[in-house]
Amino acid sequence: MRIIDIAHDTVANRCPRCHQGQVFENNNPYSFKNGLRMNKRCPHCNLKFEREVGYFYGAMYVSYGLQTGLITLLYTLNMFWWDMPPLVLVFIILTPVFSLFPVTFRWSRIIWISSFTKYDKSVASGQ
Ligand SMILES: [Zn+2]
Repeated sequence: MRIIDIAHDTVANRCPRCHQGQVFENNNPYSFKNGLRMNKRCPHCNLKFEREVGYFYGAMYVSYGLQTGLITLLYTLNMFWWDMPPLVLVFIILTPVFSLFPVTFRWSRIIWISSFTKYDKSVASGQ
């Protein structure tokens, strides 16, 4: 199923065409050395990740959606269960938003690539 494939590729840092090569060089998004550095091409199927200059501008919309979803979730939890004062709520919302930035950055790019790339079984098996 397509949505499950996209979710798996996103979390596992895998190429959407072959499901085997890594999109980012390091699986750890919090690595200072290369946590946010992408491979130019898939090491397994040679898919070029950045198709054109500015290709990843669209990933900003995905990132916006992910961050907004997180904020909405935390705000809703506060409305129905926590009932924190406003200043504490701002701190509770902004802490995960900023600390999860490397994760949402990577996820938004992989989701963006996945939305324009289909899985290719022949490429995945190397035939
Ligand atoms: Zn690949």
